[in-house]
Amino acid sequence: MNEPANVDLEEIKKFDRLAEIWWDPDGAMGMLHVINPLRTGFIMKNSELRGKKVLDVGCGGGILTEALAREGAEATGIDLAETPLKIAAQHAETAGLSIEYLAKDVEDLARERPHSYDVVACCEALEHVPDPQKIIDCCVALLKPGGTLFFSTINRNLKSFLFAIVGAEYVLRMLPRGTHHYSKLIKPEEIDRWTVANGFSLADISSFMYNPLTKTFKLKNRADVNYITCYKPVPKAAA
Ligand code: SAH
Repeated sequence: MNEPANVDLEEIKKFDRLAEIWWDPDGAMGMLHVINPLRTGFIMKNSELRGKKVLDVGCGGGILTEALAREGAEATGIDLAETPLKIAAQHAETAGLSIEYLAKDVEDLARERPHSYDVVACCEALEHVPDPQKIIDCCVALLKPGGTLFFSTINRNLKSFLFAIVGAEYVLRMLPRGTHHYSKLIKPEEIDRWTVANGFSLADISSFMYNPLTKTFKLKNRADVNYITCYKPVPKAAA
């Protein structure tokens, strides 16, 4: 593997250190377990998974990858943090799921396997890379013609700063401190610009809304703090 350019090694080290607790629903990654059924539901609402080739970019310990495989997808997970990938592979094996996990740069995979996947998802990872637009370009390159893209991340505005950083990391301690850096959060308009430039248009958007009283999340059909998007190619005649 060439030295990857679009990577913040401090971010990779951070996820490597957290690897052991990846599958502990009460551990540092607990939030990902809580929102996972909502993310999976959103993906299934917008795309067929059974028998489809699905790529999960920045898959970490495989929380989403496994959920997609359980819905019948032929799933591949890719990440640069090697320890979480080992944990992911072990977990899938124990669960009897056949999932391909790759420790490699998504730019290399895009060169090796262009137009290979029916669905490409990149969830809660874009806000950890130096150049998220480049990751989106690679996701597009990996997608088969007519394929579907899913991105989830955290909005960059005052509400997100208060809820996702101050609230979640310092007040409620739902996430380890330093999980997110405000300047790296991503506005929905930015995701939109980068995908529209690649000939895609927004098909669906929702947010994971937290209720601190019931300690539960539900999906709302609008862009808020932590949101998920679905992009589909603009039909040629309309492009
Ligand atoms: N998508 C998973 C994990 C989210 S945590 C889930 O939602 O369940 C963010 C993940 O992004 C970590 O596993 C981290 O290693 C990965 N990541 C950060 N920078 C990356 C990069 N440049 N290329 C690939 N993965 C990256």
